[in-house]
Amino acid sequence: MKAMILNEYNSSLELIEMDTPRFKRDEILLKVKACGICQTDLKIIRGEIPPPIVTLPHIIGHEVVGEVVGVGEFVSGVDRGDVGVVYIYITCRECQWCLTGRENLCINLKRVGFELSGGFEEYLQIPAYAFCPFKKDMPLHEMAILADAVGTPYHAITRLADVKAGQSVLIVGAGGLGIHGVQIAKLCGAKVFVVDKDQNALNFAQELGADKIFSPDKAPQGIRDLTGGQGVDAVIEIVGTPETLSWSLPSLKKGGKLIVVGYAPGRPFPLDTMAMHYNEWEIIGSRLSTKTELLQVIKLVEEGKIKPVVTKTFPFAQANEAIKALSKKTTLGRIVLTF
Ligand SMILES: [Zn+2]
Ligand SMILES: [Zn+2]
Repeated sequence: MKAMILNEYNSSLELIEMDTPRFKRDEILLKVKACGICQTDLKIIRGEIPPPIVTLPHIIGHEVVGEVVGVGEFVSGVDRGDVGVVYIYITCRECQWCLTGRENLCINLKRVGFELSGGFEEYLQIPAYAFCPFKKDMPLHEMAILADAVGTPYHAITRLADVKAGQSVLIVGAGGLGIHGVQIAKLCGAKVFVVDKDQNALNFAQELGADKIFSPDKAPQGIRDLTGGQGVDAVIEIVGTPETLSWSLPSLKKGGKLIVVGYAPGRPFPLDTMAMHYNEWEIIGSRLSTKTELLQVIKLVEEGKIKPVVTKTFPFAQANEAIKALSKKTTLGRIVLTF
C-alpha cells in the first residue's frame, strides 16, 4: 500500500510503498477514504510533540473515515462495506477512567496519528471497538472531521462547559474546531461570540451563526458591553496561548467556566489567583471526546443539525500541498485528504 511518511521534522512527507497492515482477531481493516488535517498535525511536523508521543518515521492523520475491508474472527456487528469514523483514542477499557465514562483520559491510551500510525495511508487496522459507523450515503470527506473538529468542541461545550439555553459563550479561535463550536453552542441555545485575528475567519463564523464577532483587541470591551458588564458564562479557548488567555479568562462572568481546548507547548500562562478567588472561575482542560460523544455527533450530523464544514479537499498524493494550505491559512474551515 501507499503511505505518506514523515521522516524528519519540518520536512515534506514522502510517498512510500509499504506492507498492508495485518489485523488481529479483534480488529478490522479499513480502506481509508478520507482524512482531515488539523493544526496538531502541523505541531507534529514541526517536532513540537516529540517522543515518546510521536516517534519518527511517522504517519500522521487523526480524522479518519474508512470502509471496512477486513473483519477479525472475534468481531461481530461490523461487516465488510460498512463505512465509519475512527474513534482515534485506542483505550484499554479496564482502567478507572475507561470504566467511569472518561475513556479520553485512559491511562494506557494510544492515539491513531500520534503514538500509532494515522490515516495518511491507504489501509489502517483498528480495534473493532474504535469503529463508529454512519449511514452510507453521508459524504465521506465531511464525516472524516467528526473525530476531532466536531467531536472535540462538542465535548468541551456540551459536557465540560455544560452550556444551557440562554447562556453566553465566547469561542476563541474560528478555525476548524471553532466554526463547529459555533454551531454546537447555537444548538444548545446559547448566544455566541467569536474572536479571531483573521477577519475572513470571523465573517465565516458569522455566516455559521455567531451572534457577534470581534478582533482580539476589541474583544474585552465588546464582551463587557454586550453582557451588561458581567461577562460570559463560558469561554471555549481553542487557541490557548498566554496572549489570548490574558483577556479570555477575565471575560468570564463570576462563577463562569473556561474550557482549555487548544494548547501552546512550553508556554505556560500566569494565573491571577486573587481574581480566581473572588470570581470562583473554573478552568477545565478538554481532550477530544468520548466514543459515546462521537456517536452522538454522528447522529446530529446525519440529522442535519450540525454541518461539517470542509472547504477544500486534496487528493492523497497532494498531502504536502494540503499541509501547506493549512499552514498558510489560505483556506477557511477544514481541509481533508481524499483517497
Ligand atoms: Zn486534531
Ligand atoms: Zn483505560
